[in-house]
Amino acid sequence: MQYSEIMVRYGELSTKGKNRQAFIGRLNGNVTKALHEFPALRMHPKRDRLHIDLNGEDAEAVMARLSKVFGIQSFSPSVAVAKEMPAVHAAVRDLMAATVPNGASYKVQTKRSDHDFELDTNEMNLNLGDMLTDARPDLVVKMKNPDYVLRVEVRREAIFLSTNTVLGAGGLPVGTAGKGVLMLSGGIDSPVAGYLALKRGVDIEMVHFFSPPYTSQQALAKAKQLTTKLAPYVGAIKFIQVPFTEIQETIKANLPEGYLMTIQRRLMLRLAEAIAQKRGALAIFNGESVGQVASQTLESMVAINDVTTMPIIRPVATMDKNEIIRVAEDIDTYALSIMPFEDCCTIFAPPAPKTKPNMDRARYYESKLDVDGLMQRALEGITITEVRSSDDYMNENMALITELL
Ligand code: ATP
Ligand code: MG
Repeated sequence: MQYSEIMVRYGELSTKGKNRQAFIGRLNGNVTKALHEFPALRMHPKRDRLHIDLNGEDAEAVMARLSKVFGIQSFSPSVAVAKEMPAVHAAVRDLMAATVPNGASYKVQTKRSDHDFELDTNEMNLNLGDMLTDARPDLVVKMKNPDYVLRVEVRREAIFLSTNTVLGAGGLPVGTAGKGVLMLSGGIDSPVAGYLALKRGVDIEMVHFFSPPYTSQQALAKAKQLTTKLAPYVGAIKFIQVPFTEIQETIKANLPEGYLMTIQRRLMLRLAEAIAQKRGALAIFNGESVGQVASQTLESMVAINDVTTMPIIRPVATMDKNEIIRVAEDIDTYALSIMPFEDCCTIFAPPAPKTKPNMDRARYYESKLDVDGLMQRALEGITITEVRSSDDYMNENMALITELL
């Protein structure tokens, strides 16, 4: 089937009053970025729809990319036809032949933005219905819940026909909710948290702590590879790697075992906050889930959260592990997440971390460290790369991961 455009219906943004223009502008920008591999496309953002003129590009490939862009409720590949009824009839017959199987039920639904057209919406519905009764006697007309809806849009420039509506990714256009940093480990939870943050329109940058030589190059590459899985939702994501070795060694050498993890987490959070401030991010996102492990009891969160007043958003906080895994499978991060590379936390994890650390004791132990000096050196060692969704990047990085497996 030779489609001429993809007609995109906006998601939640249609209810956002005066911000509407900003939302549409951002969505249009995000769609353009997501579809950069299709140079012939032409975008026509309108008040209630975005029309993507295919201009010869492949509809299936374009739709596969489009399905990852947040802020889209649904989209339909459409055929454009001249505003003359014989041409419309021929095009409807072709489209129905290609997309609606024998015996299916259907109805015709016309919308008109060109009110000068010779037929009004009712007349158009009846006209096409009559024509199809003759041309496709196998089909059944059904007004309630038909298998197919033939959508007809009478616009100024042409008449557009579609029979197929594909569900979009939902959510809000990335960037409309501001910027945040995501604390990304190599585990299952934090990539899911990142996906959910993106879905609500937050533009995230990844912050990853690594501890060479205790953690391997592969562990780092794995975190980057997880980032490539989220990049298609935005086009590209900044990956900020923060050296954490000195901090972990210092904590391990100087503080009691029961508080190693609490203090490590406090330092991670302090660094995340400093990075967020420097990069204009307003909140910190992480993959903590209440009660999942020792560092994620409410008592632990109190003792760790103590170091910052910046909002910490935990998108998976109340999800069961099974629910988190289901999302991880959907977004294709699960298989990567369960690859066995030591995380900086597993290596320095004490055999019995406190499940109920005390905030005052945490403050006291932390005060024995040169927190400012440790943080300054970690921040000086930061490397920032831009992770794209391109296949080349993913393949190269994956080769690094699998090299030593
Ligand atoms: P996951 O690692 O998938 O997030 P987890 O159950 O292993 O889940 P923890 O290791 O307890 O979680 O870490 C809790 C959260 O702390 C992570 O979700 C992540 O946001 C953050 N975190 C842990 N390790 C790192 C790291 N090396 N770099 C950045 N953030 C980290
Ligand atoms: Mg982890």
